[in-house]
Amino acid sequence: MAVVWWSSLAAADRDLLAMLDDTERARVESLERAADRGRSLLGAALLRMALAARLPVGPAEVVIDRTCIECGAPHGAPRVVLAGTPAPWVSVSHSGLLVVVAVSERGPVGVDVQRESDLPGPGTGREWVRREAALKATTAARRDGHATARCTAAAVAAATADLRPPLAGYAAALAALGESDSRHSARCWPAGWTGEGAAS
Ligand SMILES: [Zn+2]
Repeated sequence: MAVVWWSSLAAADRDLLAMLDDTERARVESLERAADRGRSLLGAALLRMALAARLPVGPAEVVIDRTCIECGAPHGAPRVVLAGTPAPWVSVSHSGLLVVVAVSERGPVGVDVQRESDLPGPGTGREWVRREAALKATTAARRDGHATARCTAAAVAAATADLRPPLAGYAAALAALGESDSRHSARCWPAGWTGEGAAS
């Protein structure tokens, strides 16, 4: 079952920088706006904590490859590198106050969250995030040579589900191509933070 981790920009403490690698730290430092730095920092740290919860390594020891498949620069979708064993698939998204990470051992995943007020029209959020999540998952599938029967439009649509963000005013979706159904479990970080409602 895929696992989805939520966190809030309020948790983006500078102490988390120690968890990041040089590429991630350089990315955070390069951003001009404090909110952008916070989202980038928290996205990278939450990904590492989500992986450390499933792998026998600490958050700082997780190896993340961010090589862009288009140009080779280190700004691509994150891919976990594990010696000897197949690594889980991951996806990260952030918008407004929310950061979300998805992890699946079964196949490529894509997750997307959007603050509704940032989108072009009212009521477009659900469609938007489902499209983005599906695109991320299929892009990862192609990158990893998984572009098989799971990547037909019908299969991707069937593997894409709405998520319930922990704050109101957001839409989110998860596409988990290798999972047998669209169920997932949700966690919040820090433990005890649940946003405005239960994050299930
Ligand atoms: Zn690029």
